[in-house]
Amino acid sequence: MSLQDNLARAETYLAGFRRTGVLNHIGGDSVPAVSGEAFETISPVDLAPLAHVAKGGAEDVDRAVAAATEAFKTWSRTPGKERRAILIKVAEAIEARAEEIAFVECLDTGQALRFMSKAAIRGAANFRFFADQAPTAEDGAALRNPTQMNVTSRRPIGPVGVITPWNTPFMLSTWKIAPALAAGCTVVHKPAEFSPLTAKLLVEIAEEAGLPPGVLNLVNGFGEDAGKALTEHPGLKAIAFVGESRTGSMIMAQGAPTLKRVHFELGGKNPVIIFDDADLERAIDAAVFMIYSLNGERCTSSSRLLVQDTIYDEVCAKVAAAASRIKIGHPLDPDTVVGPLIHPEHEKKVLSYFDTARSEGATIATGGEKAGDTGCYVKPTLFTGATNDMAIAQEEIFGPVLTAIPFSTDEEALEIANGVPYGLSAYLWTNDLNRAMWMTDNLDAGMMWVNSENIRHLPSPFGGTKASGIGRDGGDWSFDFYMETVNVSFPRQMHRVPKLGG
Ligand code: NAD
Repeated sequence: MSLQDNLARAETYLAGFRRTGVLNHIGGDSVPAVSGEAFETISPVDLAPLAHVAKGGAEDVDRAVAAATEAFKTWSRTPGKERRAILIKVAEAIEARAEEIAFVECLDTGQALRFMSKAAIRGAANFRFFADQAPTAEDGAALRNPTQMNVTSRRPIGPVGVITPWNTPFMLSTWKIAPALAAGCTVVHKPAEFSPLTAKLLVEIAEEAGLPPGVLNLVNGFGEDAGKALTEHPGLKAIAFVGESRTGSMIMAQGAPTLKRVHFELGGKNPVIIFDDADLERAIDAAVFMIYSLNGERCTSSSRLLVQDTIYDEVCAKVAAAASRIKIGHPLDPDTVVGPLIHPEHEKKVLSYFDTARSEGATIATGGEKAGDTGCYVKPTLFTGATNDMAIAQEEIFGPVLTAIPFSTDEEALEIANGVPYGLSAYLWTNDLNRAMWMTDNLDAGMMWVNSENIRHLPSPFGGTKASGIGRDGGDWSFDFYMETVNVSFPRQMHRVPKLGG
């Protein structure tokens, strides 16, 4: 399909949004914000408005929590097998509308179609995976000693809030919402204000597939009002949040008075460490993929390239050459690899690091400037000659921007890798097994890949250390967050009960 064909099809998918705007969705109904206010979401391709979006606030959150609380009474007691059947239907319905989801996501976020078409399918896979665990989610253990049998089980914690960011918003929403629903929780979702469109598709698709009204509710709006109201609401038991580290700390403070359980997936400044014994071609391909795919707007992007000094110049030259060949273009062009960044505000932040790099004394080996005259396009960039104390090595830039730092020994590689506030993921390239063992034993990161780019395995734990997060998703870890574990103790014999005052 050509770009022209895709643009025409995208317009048909956008028609509904253009006509009605992006409404909130509460208790099965699409509704405007109580205040009647709306804001515009723009396309980063040309900054043209895509749709008006309901600007929700505390009153909308109140209504959504009331709907989620009512629905919880039934959904939490719906047998796991029935929840499974409904959630599988949701997965099938997502697959049936995968193209629509992908096209809308491309225009709203600027992410390239080649990646977004897979993200929609991955959203369906998230529903399938967690649906399959719904029937056994409440199971626990029997723990016996000579006098007691303790039986544990899990029950859904209650209505929960889910707050998501603007990078790959559909996939990330399903990643949080699917396990919550499978566990028997009901949800109020607040998507990012920069990319609200596909969250509305998700709730519509889910209800058409049979999800009862009120089980999943949507409140659009800004973090400081709708988001804040959600985190402060006494009716919600937990907040699952994906976004920036400093927003995570705000949410923790906002949720403290109501003792919210929180789960945080936050920022990263992830190293890809290449030793001179590695398969260099594969290592370079993976490093290039992990920073320049998804516009570099990816929490697990390999944004720091740590290369052994013996091969530093060779690796940097090859990465720079690959980066300069990457096709920048319209997100709906099937050949595009890098599309526009999400929003002019974010583009400004990313571009500011080019001046920072120069003033810190690093070299811009390739890129380092805007691409084109319209839209938020930034050229894939490589900084070389960087040291770990520079801002370009410490701060999450969240764009197609890679900072290369040389090292000489294993100890030095480890010190640089761990010497950042973040600890989400790390990528290690070596053919020396002992070195891989020592490095992975000592790297401070929640997820590590040896001789590989990030390949997600849904049963494995996902999450970060330090400023990259609290808690783990995936497998059974998601259920631990969305469920309370309870213990019931039975006596195994007529033991002596202490008699006081008798
Ligand atoms: P952000 O923190 O600015 O916003 C995320 C969400 O939080 C949005 O919906 C926003 O409206 C809301 N929000 C903002 N202030 C709030 C407040 N005071 N109370 C409640 N909600 C509030 O993040 P972003 O810029 O949208 O996304 C990019 C960030 O997300 C990056 O740091 C990236 O690394 C991170 N991220 C992490 C993961 C992960 O799994 N670790 C995955 C994707 C993105």
